[in-house]
Parts: sequence; structure tokens; C-alpha cells
Amino acid sequence: MKKASSVPENDDGGFHRLNPDEIHRVFELLSAGNPAPETELESTNAYTLLVAVVLSAQMTDKGVNRATGPLFERVSTPAQMLELGEDGLKEYIKSVNLYPTKARHIIAMSRMLEDNFGGTVPGDRASLESLPGVGRKTANVVLNVVFGEAAMPVDTHLLRLAPRLGLSSAATPRGVEDDLMRIIPAAWIRHAHHWLLLHGRYVCVARKPKCAECVLSVLCPRNGL
Ligand code: SF4
Repeated sequence: MKKASSVPENDDGGFHRLNPDEIHRVFELLSAGNPAPETELESTNAYTLLVAVVLSAQMTDKGVNRATGPLFERVSTPAQMLELGEDGLKEYIKSVNLYPTKARHIIAMSRMLEDNFGGTVPGDRASLESLPGVGRKTANVVLNVVFGEAAMPVDTHLLRLAPRLGLSSAATPRGVEDDLMRIIPAAWIRHAHHWLLLHGRYVCVARKPKCAECVLSVLCPRNGL
């Protein structure tokens, strides 16, 4: 392995793209402090994780956990969610942004899981994305966290971090996802989104990134800008 250069390549349009050695080093450094990162969304099984991810749109994980703690004491299966009903569910998730729409989606999703999937969460993208309220990002979280697949959910943190760190210049979540899937070495891909997400949540924050305490500062094209 060559020593990683601290000088980024200059890409078209002023975007500084890290080279493969530097990308490897990014994940070496991120993994050193947290070798097996996990989602901070609380759940009791694959179904409740799916519910939590649906609720997490435009919400912090802590905010979702506050609502789902009591909910998941009562509900752990699609059948129990259908028994609770849409109005009953709303009582538990009133603190969650967009809760009326999310409640409607979760009840419809639970109905489809019962009717089409035997009450279990399917492990393939097409089936997951056929569920009401489940888009590509949610499917990616479930495929990665529950089924251990190399999937790359791109949320607001990854969208911000990818260009800052010189990993992707794409403007859309799907573009960033495709770039990250292509450039991150296989050894790191399984946990890559968690490392990047946690780094964005706690260090490379939106307004004032904490560059002075960042383990990636020697590699980061944005450091000091
Ligand atoms: S050095 Fe600063 S801008 Fe670069 S990843 Fe670290 S916190 Fe973010």
C-alpha cells in the first residue's frame, strides 16, 4: 500500500477528489474509533426497525426513539400494528414530524406485509420499495442493517460529507450513492454509511464542522477553508 498523499487531486470544476489510497485511509481512521458501528435508531426486530426508519424522515434519531420506546413495548409485528389502528398509532407518534402521513403509510405498509409477505419484512429491494412509505433510502437501511448487504443509504449527512471530503461531486442522493458504492473499497463498504453518518452527525456538522478535532483533517480537502 502506498502512503496516502495529503494533497488531493484536482477534479474538473474545482472539486478535489480523494485518490483510492486516501479513501482507504479515511475508512481506516473512521473505523479505528468505532469498528462495528450501529444505527442509533432503537428497534426490537426487523419490522420495528422498518417502522422506525419510516418515522425518521425529517426527524432526529433521538426524537424517533422517544416516540417508539412506548410504541414498541406494545407493537412488534404488523398484525399488532393493524390491531392498534391508525388513530391508535397517531397517539404514540404525535411528536414526530409529518405524523399523520407517516401513520397512514405505516398502517398500509403493515397491511401489505400481512397480506403479501406473511407478516415478515422482505429481504429484496423490489419488495421493500413496493411497500407504502418505503423509498430507496429506507430500503437501503433495511438491506444494510437487517440483511447485512452492502447498501448505501444517503441521508442529509452523507449528502453534505461526500463533497466536503472529496468523495463525490454528485448533486443528488442517488448520484452520491452510486459514487460511494463505486469508490469505497469492498473491505469498508458494509459499514461505510454508518461511519460517514456518525462523522457528519457529531464532527463534520453542517454549520461549523469541528475540523480541529477531526481524525480526517490531514486528508480532508476542505480543512482550513
Ligand atoms: S476536516 Fe473539517 S470539513 Fe473535513 S471532514 Fe473533518 S470536520 Fe469535516
